[in-house]
Amino acid sequence: MARVTVIGGGIAGLSCAFQFARRPGWTVELFEAADRLGGLLQTAYTPWGMAELAARAVIHQAEWEDLCETVGAKILPASRHSRNRYIFRGRPRKMPLGVGELVPILTGAGRRFVTDRAALRPYPGETVAAWGDRQIGPGATRYLLAPALGGIYAGDVERLSASLILGRMLDPKAKRTPTRLKARTVTPEAGFSDLIKKTEAYLRARRVAIHLGTPRRLAPEDLDHPCIVATSARQAAPVVEAVAPALADQLARTEMLSLTVVCAWYPHDAKDLKGFGCLFPADQGVRALGVIFNDVLFPRDQSYRSETWIYGGDRSPETAQMDDPALLDLVRADRARLTGTPAAPIGTAIQRWPDAVPYYTPALEKFLATLDLPPNLHLAGNYIVGIGLAKIVEHSTVIAARLGAGT
Ligand SMILES: Cc1cc2nc3c(=O)[nH]c(=O)nc-3n(C[C@H](O)[C@H](O)[C@H](O)COP(=O)(O)OP(=O)(O)OC[C@H]3O[C@@H](n4cnc5c(N)ncnc54)[C@H](O)[C@@H]3O)c2cc1C
Repeated sequence: MARVTVIGGGIAGLSCAFQFARRPGWTVELFEAADRLGGLLQTAYTPWGMAELAARAVIHQAEWEDLCETVGAKILPASRHSRNRYIFRGRPRKMPLGVGELVPILTGAGRRFVTDRAALRPYPGETVAAWGDRQIGPGATRYLLAPALGGIYAGDVERLSASLILGRMLDPKAKRTPTRLKARTVTPEAGFSDLIKKTEAYLRARRVAIHLGTPRRLAPEDLDHPCIVATSARQAAPVVEAVAPALADQLARTEMLSLTVVCAWYPHDAKDLKGFGCLFPADQGVRALGVIFNDVLFPRDQSYRSETWIYGGDRSPETAQMDDPALLDLVRADRARLTGTPAAPIGTAIQRWPDAVPYYTPALEKFLATLDLPPNLHLAGNYIVGIGLAKIVEHSTVIAARLGAGT
């Protein structure tokens, strides 16, 4: 039997463990520091409906579909109305596009995107702001690209690396493996926590040893077999310190962004916006990065208006220290600005995620470009392949294939 150790029980670690556990001939051991699996994935099941406390939507991909279907988690496609997206400029304005659709259109009505995508590639070390000014003009960069990316990556376009954020999208060779279900945006129907629970059950049924509440550090003798470190960038530093001190030092210096999520339920109102959500450019007097309209995005839990307000990142790092009443005041003020009328929620769920996601800066880009790992050490997670869940799950198949456990 070949042996693999996985450190970190977020989606990166779980999907790595899944790739090995499903194949005969592998003994898999998974270590998770917390007393639950899932990492940044967590669902609150409340009297008003369920609410995702971090990720809610996945850009559908074959590897994601495979994971969900194999562990028995039903996939729910986003509603038709979710194609509407709003951007706030004095009032909410319709912008029926996501970043994936926005970039091709802004870069020459899509034609250049198809015929000469290589010409759109960012320069090494270039920021999104510099790339945007060069390719699509400052107006579109500030009012479309900046809020759209700020809502996903929580960073400022002046500091985000264009290669890390847009590089893959602009890579002429990048292709998505076709999926059975023809949907672009999906979610696990019963919530991310249910997907995690089903994945855990699948792993335990295949004799994966799962150690909860067990922070793990690697010792040199551990690297006599493959070890996958699937934690956040910062958390990886102490894990690899004894086997790769220079790498640990770089990981410890990775800038991280904290996020705070306020889920709030309201009675339905005829004036409720119908769409994915609304983004707020930095100069619009709103502290939130964006708000998501959960009751519209996915066709479930529609008894109440369900919104998720996202704070933090580079725009409002101080929100990480705010207590619940102060956060709810903030939501009340921001929502009044969006809808024109103040309203008190009938229910709320609040979650703070300190050091949640890496800041995708040119410094991280440089670090990744020069990454040098000792034999048998593998890194997985959102700082390696990007923030999106489907990409993280896809990467687990790449690691498995590299170690001889591919399809
Ligand atoms: C508010 C918010 C909204 C988001 N929305 C979306 C979205 O809609 N769609 C999307 O695709 N993505 C979204 N994301 C991003 C996505 O959730 C993350 O990129 C992804 O979940 C990261 O998974 P991971 O496994 O790499 O890391 P994590 O989830 O951070 O997991 C790392 C795990 O490692 C464990 N660990 C740390 N140190 C040790 C140790 N020494 N030993 C053992 N275990 C250890 C931690 O406890 C943790 O469980 C969102 C993120 C946030 C914060």
